[in-house]
Amino acid sequence: MLKIDGIAASAGVAIAPAFKLEHPDYTVKNKNAADPAAELARLDEALATSQQELEAIKERTLQELGEKKAEIFESHLLILNDPELLTPVRDKISSENATAEYALDETSKQFISMFENMKSAYLRERAADMRDVTKRVLTHLLGLNYVNPADISEEVIVIAEDLTPSDTAQLNRKYVKGFTTNIGGRTSHSAIMARSLEIPAVVGTKDVLSQVNSGDMIIVDGLDGSVIINPSAEVIDEYKSKRDNHLRQIEEWKKLREVPTVSKDGVHVELAANIGTPNDVTGVLENGGEGVGLYRTEFLYMGRTELPSEEVQFNAYKTVLEKMEGKPVVVRTLDIGGDKELPYLDLPKEMNPFLGFRAVRLCLDRKDIFRTQLRALLRASTYGNLRIMFPMIATLDEFREAKALLLEEQEKLAAEGIAVSDSIQLGIMVEIPSTAVLADQFAKEVDFFSIGTNDLIQYTMAADRMNERVSYLYQPYNPAILRLVKMVIDAAHKEGRWAGMCGEMAGDATAIPLLLGLGLDEFSMSATSILPARSQISKLSKAEMKALAEQALEQQTAEQVVKLVRGIGQ
Ligand code: PEP
Ligand code: MG
Repeated sequence: MLKIDGIAASAGVAIAPAFKLEHPDYTVKNKNAADPAAELARLDEALATSQQELEAIKERTLQELGEKKAEIFESHLLILNDPELLTPVRDKISSENATAEYALDETSKQFISMFENMKSAYLRERAADMRDVTKRVLTHLLGLNYVNPADISEEVIVIAEDLTPSDTAQLNRKYVKGFTTNIGGRTSHSAIMARSLEIPAVVGTKDVLSQVNSGDMIIVDGLDGSVIINPSAEVIDEYKSKRDNHLRQIEEWKKLREVPTVSKDGVHVELAANIGTPNDVTGVLENGGEGVGLYRTEFLYMGRTELPSEEVQFNAYKTVLEKMEGKPVVVRTLDIGGDKELPYLDLPKEMNPFLGFRAVRLCLDRKDIFRTQLRALLRASTYGNLRIMFPMIATLDEFREAKALLLEEQEKLAAEGIAVSDSIQLGIMVEIPSTAVLADQFAKEVDFFSIGTNDLIQYTMAADRMNERVSYLYQPYNPAILRLVKMVIDAAHKEGRWAGMCGEMAGDATAIPLLLGLGLDEFSMSATSILPARSQISKLSKAEMKALAEQALEQQTAEQVVKLVRGIGQ
């Protein structure tokens, strides 16, 4: 039995066999073969194996997830048997002495680029299918050992070096009971997605991948941030009861779903949720969210081969606004960059992506992209209570320029006779220290602030939020961070604005008493943190927390602040 410590990224306990997810190298090195007949036979064998796999996956998906989801595999089967693809592959083998893998890879690349340049969205999406099918056949031709995360069909815990947000999105909750990675921090986007999928996760373990063999029994303790490999029967029993206690606690919290969030001394604060897709709204409502405090729209731009059209965006925003039935929805404009890439924009690689060409910086440069999003948002505004927020604002000029573009699009829509709500609040994320320091000036021009501590902490402490080696510097409770948070809240209140927080700190049980004391108006967090936060706040007096926060601001270290908060014995 071996215990490895990591970072608790998503609450809960999972117990299941390990499944190592390693992305293989599909580069084709051998281009020429001596015996075309043997290559044709290899091709046929790989195609037949792929066919069997796809049929099995399709059948299983049909039984478990329904017809709609199974259609994907039906189209993969059609590609696998398509003579338009296979005839040129076979020709290349016979006439050019190509290896089966080279012939397939080259031919499918031509089809992929052709599909990608098609006008019809349907045909463009076929490029992704062609890529998936090619990888499946290449896996056999190259003798690789790889299972697509979407193909997992037994209860497992996924172990990986890292998971991209799109890998995470593909995980099927029915089978993937938990995951753990070598790298990443609590605020890396795969961790954030794990919380919205409610899959227990531990990230940043540094070397769990090399310590585990596929099939080993694993416990992922997403409450304390540890991974146990090959536990004894007693340890498994111990963690089963920890898991059951956690599940019971969740049932208890559910009783607070319809209750407003009020402190012991009667002060109401708003508990909102962070979402990545319109589907996440179900979780927000199930967990009693009083609004959406952050809709990360960039996920709408990811996992596709080109920018989403105005119509695609309009429908997504409208869906969220309608489902929230008049409750506030803060939509953040595109925040691409950092750990969120858009391969189809073909942006040059940067030395420091978190400090680079991202979010509003990119939008002010690629105004075409920005204007489309603003138009879609404005058109959707009549379907609910929309608030728009710009990410990564570093200067007043950036805010003014982004606001001017919004107003221009609003005027254009008015000229076209398209209705736009007249009560859209416009705010900014405060996630860059320059903006926190200058919050008094910003407060004169914005309707609200939402403090993005995930980035604010990394920029203030100069500690990459993704890098587990410097995670000790990632200190939400450092008095330096608390002072910045106070500056922002006070500046907002002085001008009669509201201040929220949508970084992960807003849902952190140690931070909540301090944030309540500092006067935060809106706390936006993973949906699953809302009910525990509501329960916690109901037991705290805001007046007492104000005194606690004042003391915290005068401490020297984060440890001292933590000790102070623990001292109130909640
Ligand atoms: C933040 O920086 O705190 C934030 C909420 O934005 P993201 O995590 O998407 O960078
Ligand atoms: Mg951010």
